[in-house]
Amino acid sequence: MKKHNFSPGPCILPQSVFEKASRAVLDYHGIGLSILEMSHRSKEFVDVMEQARELALEHLGLQNKGYKALFLQGGASTEFLMVAYNLLENKAAYLNTGTWSNKAIKEAKLFGEVVEVASSKDANFNYIPKDYSIPSDADYFHCTSNNTIFGTQLQSIPNTEVPIVCDMSSDIFSREMDFSKFSLIYAGAQKNMGPAGATLVVIKEDILGKVSRVIPSMMDYKVHLGKDSMFNTPPVFSVYVSLLTLEWLKELGGIPAIEKINTAKAELLYNEIDRNPLFKGFAAQIEDRSPMNATFSLTDESAKDRFDTLWNGAGINGLNGHRSVGGYRASMYNALTLDSVQVLVDVMQEAERTA
Ligand SMILES: *Cc1c(COP(=O)(O)O)cnc(C)c1O
Repeated sequence: MKKHNFSPGPCILPQSVFEKASRAVLDYHGIGLSILEMSHRSKEFVDVMEQARELALEHLGLQNKGYKALFLQGGASTEFLMVAYNLLENKAAYLNTGTWSNKAIKEAKLFGEVVEVASSKDANFNYIPKDYSIPSDADYFHCTSNNTIFGTQLQSIPNTEVPIVCDMSSDIFSREMDFSKFSLIYAGAQKNMGPAGATLVVIKEDILGKVSRVIPSMMDYKVHLGKDSMFNTPPVFSVYVSLLTLEWLKELGGIPAIEKINTAKAELLYNEIDRNPLFKGFAAQIEDRSPMNATFSLTDESAKDRFDTLWNGAGINGLNGHRSVGGYRASMYNALTLDSVQVLVDVMQEAERTA
């Protein structure tokens, strides 16, 4: 039986995407070759790459606006350093909202001065700092749109003249935003887009070429752009499955349509967390709560075994919280259905009844 998969990543993808992907592993579009054995220089795969790059821009409303999309390897973690390699000449401003921001800051410090404009470390990252200013002479401002581990999300992006770089690994394609506010967006595929192995990078080309250091080819966005994201062998399967997921999203009605579903899922679960005396939410402020990753815990730890038995028995997977927060985390990425959230809510009510 298919589980209700609340895993934080790698995570659930649409079942129809798994079916199409598995057919392509056996025989890609009836050409007598598997997607896994075709040349990445074949017309078939070049088309896959071009469509994936274009569709990513289309969903974000960034076509014909000076942006290009790349599918790179190395995960979002490699972007932590590539961003600084390519953009940091003197100093950069970072907003520290959790583990992933922290790791981005650590890498950037290898390349220049880093100004931490604000941090919520003082409260184990249970809120999003709102009052801070971005130095106007910074090369860029970096933020993390959704804090996967702590279950908080940025609801507003600051207005600044400084180019904005954003790690959107865990909420890309989940909600409407004015994406043209960003000069660079990156996201590991495995949270909302596809299998692990590819990282989407969307770059406004005019921000490049401003640092004086020599950049090794594989770390240089310009090199990848110059080769249409085919400088070396791309992660072909991950790019293909990402394309299938982007097509699935388009058929559904794109980001506006999925945002409605994501909002309904989040409301259903957070309402239960707030109503049910057995549970409490982690985020200090309701407005900072992430619709993608809902973090919560028991008010009475003695109910743990019972609750764990109940959700495991209901076919729920991946509900344990990250070790730095504890408790539970329900990741409700695009492909998770409202029905799966209802199953979790039913289990929470069952735990309350039998308390
Ligand atoms: C998972 C995650 C990362 C790390 O991604 P990798 O692809 O494993 O390097 C970075 N940032 C955020 C917000 C994440 O959720």
